[in-house]
Amino acid sequence: MLVFEGRPVYGGVAKGKIHIYAKSENRVRKITIEDCENEIKRFHEALSLASGELDLLHKTVFSEIDGKDADIIEAQRLMSEDEYYSDNVENYIRTQKVNAEYAVLLFLKDFEDKHSGEDEFFKSRISDIKDFSERIIRILSKTQEEFSDYTEDTIVCFEDALPSDILKIDKTFVKAVIMKNGSLYSHAAILLKAKSIPSIICPDFPMDEKMEGKDIITDGYSGKIFSEMEDEIQDKIVNELQGENIHIIQNKNSDAILTEIKQEISDRNEQTVLTENKQDASNSPVRKGNNNSFGICANISDISELDSAIENNADGIGLFRTEFIFIKSETLPTEEEQFKIYSETAKRMKGRKVIIRTIDIGSDKRCDCIKLPLEENPSMGLRGIRLCLKYPEIFKTQLRAILRASAYGKVCIMLPMITDLWEITETKKILEEIKTEFDIQNIDYDKNIELGIMVETPAAVMCADDLAKEADFFSVGTNDLTQYTFAIDRNNAIADRYYDSHHPAIMKMLKETADAAHKNGIEVSVCGELGADVNAIDELIEMGYDGVSVSCGMIRTIRNYIS
Ligand code: PEP
Ligand code: MG
Repeated sequence: MLVFEGRPVYGGVAKGKIHIYAKSENRVRKITIEDCENEIKRFHEALSLASGELDLLHKTVFSEIDGKDADIIEAQRLMSEDEYYSDNVENYIRTQKVNAEYAVLLFLKDFEDKHSGEDEFFKSRISDIKDFSERIIRILSKTQEEFSDYTEDTIVCFEDALPSDILKIDKTFVKAVIMKNGSLYSHAAILLKAKSIPSIICPDFPMDEKMEGKDIITDGYSGKIFSEMEDEIQDKIVNELQGENIHIIQNKNSDAILTEIKQEISDRNEQTVLTENKQDASNSPVRKGNNNSFGICANISDISELDSAIENNADGIGLFRTEFIFIKSETLPTEEEQFKIYSETAKRMKGRKVIIRTIDIGSDKRCDCIKLPLEENPSMGLRGIRLCLKYPEIFKTQLRAILRASAYGKVCIMLPMITDLWEITETKKILEEIKTEFDIQNIDYDKNIELGIMVETPAAVMCADDLAKEADFFSVGTNDLTQYTFAIDRNNAIADRYYDSHHPAIMKMLKETADAAHKNGIEVSVCGELGADVNAIDELIEMGYDGVSVSCGMIRTIRNYIS
């Protein structure tokens, strides 16, 4: 038996067949085909779907935003009618007897080789063709690989999981996820926790095709992955592991490993009994030193998580990551679509606070419906409030939807990635415009709706006193605050060593932020992952924090701990 040691992301023991999930550009496999005409038909169907997608994108998005971008989209759409492109791909299918995806790749490679030394015009043409071909390959492979296509328990292994990959996971047969690269603070990891999918980051796990289809067991509590075990021992291991965090095991034979697992578990009996005897305080109010209540709210990325927030008795929604509504959608979500989601959330939370964060697209959170420029360093580029202010139409649509939803509950607006006062005042101007329109049209909204900000950049901490005079509340995003303070990409596999949300630098920033908020009479909470860390709660309470917002699965743990 082989045991790989990784880092746990979300607890749970799973057994299933491993599936190596390749990135779209790697997903293209060469398949020899007999029926060339059928393959050519598939290719033409993909061309027409791509044309439809680009047409929609052109009409609904870019004509409203930027004429130049609209031209690029139209140029790409015209490629679906380009005979040079389709004749060449068809030719590869016929002469090489290969699948359409592979023929597109062959054409692309040949085109790049032929024109590599050409001028800027050709370089930009190559990049358009690449972009278009990626779309065709995505459409073609979509019909081949979907998470919902699995028919048996599967453990999916990603090289680099994107948030959009995790969003697509259907839990019917996907029982666990292994990420070869990535960090505990990436949005992919945060979503895995939000979706309660047992998961592990394991850089040592072999991503080669030989692993495909093998039976493995993953233990999301300890981060261990077991493979190549005898059939008869698999269920025994799963049974022993359920709910346990095992810190042992080298590469030994299966019986020896099972004995060790059992020993480790029996050594913990005393502790287990203690835990079981502890009262479940999940419904009792949580108090802090000065007798004010300490709020434990829920972070959600999708309306489907509301059930869990309500079941776990969340004091409110402290962070609704609305960008995931955009990431899931191929076209820009309309005001009506957004209004429906926000108002339903407000209604179901029955007067409890619902903090809706305006879209934090950018960095690793990319979406098909907003074409972002290619940036060398996207975490430091057009992200969060910067993107919203650059595309005021998208921003205004979202603000209108939130404002309308505020008539149905205690809705608040929160702005991500604030670094300066002007970003708040600019937003307020847009809000005032909308309010005036609503007043004229007799549209209901909460006239006292609060506008708060995320404090997640060192600049915001340093200017917290000024920002607190303009904002109605602060919510500290320790995930990004840590990333930007230590100059360490939160998605990078080396993050663990350098990324430390408990570091005195972060603690000092947290204290300064809380002091600035309270000096100006506004509330401050933490909605980054540090808020869900029991080792940080005492300090946050001591600093005077008014609450935390955590993934739904962590609400009980935090409430029990504080109680
Ligand atoms: C944060 O940065 O801490 C935060 C809560 O926002 P996100 O994780 O969505 O960037
Ligand atoms: Mg953030």
